[in-house]
Amino acid sequence: MSQCQYCGEHRSNCICMRTISDLAEQFEVPTDTDTGKIAEGIGRRLFKTTESGVTFAYDHRNRTVHIGAYCEGFDGELDGQSLTFPFTLDEFRDVVSEVDRVGCEVWDATHGCEECPESVEYPGYHMISAGCEACKGEGVIL
Ligand SMILES: [Zn+2]
Ligand SMILES: [Zn+2]
Repeated sequence: MSQCQYCGEHRSNCICMRTISDLAEQFEVPTDTDTGKIAEGIGRRLFKTTESGVTFAYDHRNRTVHIGAYCEGFDGELDGQSLTFPFTLDEFRDVVSEVDRVGCEVWDATHGCEECPESVEYPGYHMISAGCEACKGEGVIL
């Protein structure tokens, strides 16, 4: 069979991710090591290349990758998303950017200065206000 069962493309055109190694190749992470190290390598890449620094975990038994939202200085739980192999690179990128957006939103909602308004959604935090005179809408690093 020369057709991919997942995307329907001819195998030579298919860019489905079937294994952690397929994914690693897309991120120029070396694959000549164990899956734990490969997953770490992908994680480092994603942490560096996303605005919020998403996290990455791989569950070998369930063939599932988990992309977690991250927001420096924020202690609460943040949602993430999972994908089970096989999936396309586009699907993976969509999940990463969606989770990245969550991390950035939480950052904006929690990194205001003392003069910025208090966050309703995250009690105890201030949300960055673009019009804040004290921090000039820059917020502060917690
Ligand atoms: Zn395919
Ligand atoms: Zn402020």
